[in-house]
Amino acid sequence: MSLNNQNKDILSNILDEKWISLDLETTGLDAKEDKIIEIGVVRFDGEKTLETFESFINPSCKLSDFTKTYTGINQLDVDNAPTFNSINNDLKKFIGDSPILGHNIQFDINFLKSHGLNLKNNKSDTWDLAYILFPQFFDYSLIGLSKKFKVGHEKPHRALDDAIATKGVFENLILELLKIDYNSFIKIKSLANKTKWIISYLMNNNNLLEIMKSKYLNDNTNDLYFKNILDLFKEMSNKSSLKPNDKLVDLNINNLNELLVSENLLSGAVKNFKKRPQQISMSLKIAESINNNRNLIVEAGTGVGKSLAYLFPSILYSIQNKKRIVISTNTINLQEQLIQKDLPNLKRLISKIPGFDNSEFDFNLLKGRSNYICLKKWQTLQNNENINVGDARIISKTNQWIHKTVTGDKNELNLGHPGVAFYWDHISAQGAIDCPDISSPCFLRLAREKANFANVLVVNHSLLISDIVSGGSLIPDYDILVIDEAHHLEDEVSSQFGFNFNTNIFNDLLSDINKQNNIWDKIRQYFINSNFSDTRINSFNNNVSNITKTIDQIFSEHTELYNFILSNLINLSSDENKFNDIRITSTTRKQPIWSDFEIQWQNSDNILLNLINQLEEMNVVLEDLDDNEINNYSSLKNSFGNLISQLVDIRNNYAELILNPKDDYVYWISFNLNKKDIFFNSAPLNVSDILEENIYLKKDSVILTSATLSTNGKFEHIRNRIGPSDADELLLDSPFDYFNSSLLCVPGDLPELFHPNYMQFLSDSIIKSTIAVGGSTLALFTSHELLRRSSKLVRPVLESNGISCLVQGVDGTPAQLIKKFINNPKSILMGTNSFWEGIDLPGDLLKLLILSKLPFTPPNEPIFQARSELYENAFFEYAVPQAVLRLRQGFGRLIRTIDDRGVVIILDKRIISKKYGENFINSLPDLKIDRSNLNQIPDVIKKWFKK
Ligand code: SF4
Repeated sequence: MSLNNQNKDILSNILDEKWISLDLETTGLDAKEDKIIEIGVVRFDGEKTLETFESFINPSCKLSDFTKTYTGINQLDVDNAPTFNSINNDLKKFIGDSPILGHNIQFDINFLKSHGLNLKNNKSDTWDLAYILFPQFFDYSLIGLSKKFKVGHEKPHRALDDAIATKGVFENLILELLKIDYNSFIKIKSLANKTKWIISYLMNNNNLLEIMKSKYLNDNTNDLYFKNILDLFKEMSNKSSLKPNDKLVDLNINNLNELLVSENLLSGAVKNFKKRPQQISMSLKIAESINNNRNLIVEAGTGVGKSLAYLFPSILYSIQNKKRIVISTNTINLQEQLIQKDLPNLKRLISKIPGFDNSEFDFNLLKGRSNYICLKKWQTLQNNENINVGDARIISKTNQWIHKTVTGDKNELNLGHPGVAFYWDHISAQGAIDCPDISSPCFLRLAREKANFANVLVVNHSLLISDIVSGGSLIPDYDILVIDEAHHLEDEVSSQFGFNFNTNIFNDLLSDINKQNNIWDKIRQYFINSNFSDTRINSFNNNVSNITKTIDQIFSEHTELYNFILSNLINLSSDENKFNDIRITSTTRKQPIWSDFEIQWQNSDNILLNLINQLEEMNVVLEDLDDNEINNYSSLKNSFGNLISQLVDIRNNYAELILNPKDDYVYWISFNLNKKDIFFNSAPLNVSDILEENIYLKKDSVILTSATLSTNGKFEHIRNRIGPSDADELLLDSPFDYFNSSLLCVPGDLPELFHPNYMQFLSDSIIKSTIAVGGSTLALFTSHELLRRSSKLVRPVLESNGISCLVQGVDGTPAQLIKKFINNPKSILMGTNSFWEGIDLPGDLLKLLILSKLPFTPPNEPIFQARSELYENAFFEYAVPQAVLRLRQGFGRLIRTIDDRGVVIILDKRIISKKYGENFINSLPDLKIDRSNLNQIPDVIKKWFKK
C-alpha cells in the first residue's frame, strides 16, 4: 500500500535519523550451531530507501533440502560466496550507529554476535509492535503482515526482500501506533522503559511523543473504568435466571418428526441442507431419551449432522420446560461451530415453529477460569515495579482490547507461540483468589452469570469434569447433558482425577518466593514508617529469614532426591530404554531401593512441611495489610495463598505416590532429560465408576455421542471404558457412499513390520503413491521415531518431484502445517497423534491417506498396562478395540463431504495376516479393497481417480 503525502511527512518527521532494516537467512534456528547464508540490509530515511547491502555468505557446509526449499538459495550460491569474516567490516561500516529494525531482530542479532559482530545499536522490532497493536490479528509472520498492509514482498525468505518488507511493515505500524489513545501510549512507553524492552527506543522518540501530546489536547479518552463489562452487568440485572417449570412437558415425538421431515424448515436454517434419515433417527431417539430420563450412546458416522440432531430436540425441550441443557465438547473447533453457527441458525429457525418463541431462548459458552482475563491481576501486574518484558508485552497487548471485549476470553486474541503465550497465565483468572469486592467488574463472573440465563450451555470436557471435582460449583444446575466427542472423556477424567507434577514446577514455585525480596523490603519499611512495635517487625524479619533458609534447604534436598532417582530408581525400569516411564507397582515398592527412596523423601518432606508452616505464619503476619498501604500487596497475598495450596497439594501427591497409594489408581514416574525434569503421575484405573457416581446417576439424561464409539458394530468397549452401564444404544452409518468414494489398498508384497525391508518398503510406498496423486496426501504415524526416519527417506525424493514435505516437529506446529498444506496442496503432511483426528481437509485437498501402522498403544505405557491387567484377555478386549477406534478416527480424515473421493493405504500387514485384522476391516465402512503389489499401486490409484 503506498503512503499518501501526509503520512510520508509524518514518517519523515518521526524517523528523524537514518535507520537500517536488516534480515539474515540461516541454515537453522540455533545461533551457536547454525550458520548465516545470506545478509540483506536497507538504509532508509523516513519512508525513502537510500541504499542497500546484500550478500550470500559461504557457511562452509552443505545446505539441507529444507533450507534450499525454504529460501530458494542453492549450494552453488553459497559455495561461491565470501565468508562472513571477509564481509564483516563492510557490513559493520554500512550499519554504523544507525538504529536497527528487524522482524524478530534479536534472532538476527544473536547470529551476528555468534559470527563475531556484536551490535550494540538501538533497535526496534516489527513483530513486537504488531503483536501489541493488532492483538487479534491471526498471522504475525512477515509474510502475513506484508499481506495485511499490502507491502510488496515478492521473494519471502530472501534477506534483502525481507529487510525491505520489514521497513514497509514498520511504516504502517508507526501509523497504527499514532492511532492509539494518549494514555495507552504513555502506559506502553513506561512498561517498555521499565523492562528495557526492544520497542523502548521507538516509544521514546521525541517527535513521536510530540505528535501524541498534541493528540492529547483533543483526546478525551481516559481509562474508562471497564464500561464495556459494567454495561453488560447492568443489562443482565434486568433478566431473571432460567428456572425449570414445576410441571415438565414431554417433547411431542410426532410433531418433532414432522418438523424434521419438512425440508423447508431446516433448509431455512442450514446452508445446503439435505434431509438425512440418520439425522432424523438420531434426533427422535434423543427426544425419547430426554422424555424418558434415559441415558443414550449414539454413534453418528461422518456426514450425519449430529450437532443439529442433538441441538434441535434439546432446544425445543428447554424452551418448553425452561430446563437447561449442557453440551460438552472436547475441541474448541466444535465449540465454535456450535456457538457461532449451529445455535444462532437454530435460534432463527425456532421463530418459525408454531408455539415457540425464540426470544425465550438463550445460549452461551462457559469456559474454565484460565480462559478469562482477571482484571485484578491485570491491574496489579502493570503496577509491578519488577515487571519483566513478557508481562509488559501481554499487558500492552491487552491494554486496548480489555476495554472493548465483552467476553474477556483469550480465544479472541492471537497469543502467539508458546514462549510468549505463556504470559497470559499471569493475567488469567486461573489462580485468582480473594477477590475483595463482589461488585467489581470481572469477566469470569460475567461468564458465569450469563450461564445462568442459558437454555443451552456449551462447555468443554475439561470444565465438565472440573465441575465434578469442585462439587458442582462451576456450571449452573442442569439435568440433561449431551457429551459430544465422547471418546475423549476417559482421558479427561484420568487427568483430572489423577495428578501430574514435576520437579521443575516445584523449583519454580520455590524460586517465586525467593524473588519477593523487593516486596519484603517495602513491607519492612512500611512497618517502620508506621511505628509498628519492634516485636512485630522482628517477627516479620525472622519469618523472612526462616523462609529463605528453608527454601535453600529444600533446593539442596531436592537436588539429592532428583539425583537419587536418576542414579538408583531408574534401575527399577524393566524397559530397555531406562528413561521411558517407570510404573510404580506393589512389586516396585517391595524392592530395597524403594525403601531408600522413602527415607530420602522423608527428609525432603519434613523440610517442605516446615516451609508450608512458615508461609502460613507469614500469611498471618501480613493479614491486616491492604493495597493502599503496600503497592502490589494484594498480588503478593494472592500468590501466597496460591503457593501454599500448591505446595500442600504437591506434598500430598508425593505422599500418595510414595507411601499411601490407592488400590484403584496407577502411578508412574517419567523423565524429560533435556529439561532435567522428572514427572510424578497418577490416574484412576476405572473411569466409568467415577462418571457413574458423579454424572450418570445424578442427571436425568446423558447422551454420549461421537463419530467413533463402536468397534466391530458393538459398543461394549466404550461402555466398559466410560459407561453408562444402563444406556440405550443407537448406531448410525454415515450417509456417504464409501463403496464408490473410497478405495483401500494393502500392498500384496507388504513385508511384516519387523522384516529388515519394512522401512524401505514404507518409504517407497509413500513416495510412489504420493507422486501418483501429485500431493494432497496425509501420512499418519504411530511414533515420532517412525515419522522421523520415514521423512528423512522420502523428503529428498518427493521434493525433487516438486512435492513439499510438511513434517510435524520439523516444519512447524500442527496448526502451521495445516495452513501450509491448505495453501499448497501439492504437499504431503506427515504427522503423529494430533493428526489422527480433528483435521478437516475436504474435497481435493486430501486425496490420499497413508496409515503407516495399526495404532496400537505401546504395551509399556503405564495407564494402558495397568488397565490391561483388569481384563481376562487384555489384547482382544482392550488393546484391539482401542486401536480399532483410533484407526477409524484416522480413516475418518479421508471423506469429509458427500462429493469427496479418496484412497487409503494401510502399511501394516497384520490387518490381513492376523485373525484380529478382521476387527479392523469390519469396523471400516464397506469399501473396495485392492491387494496389488507396490509397483502396481501408482497405476491402480491413477485409474481409480480417472473413473
Ligand atoms: S473476581 Fe477473581 S477473577 Fe474476577 S477480577 Fe476479581 S480476582 Fe479476578
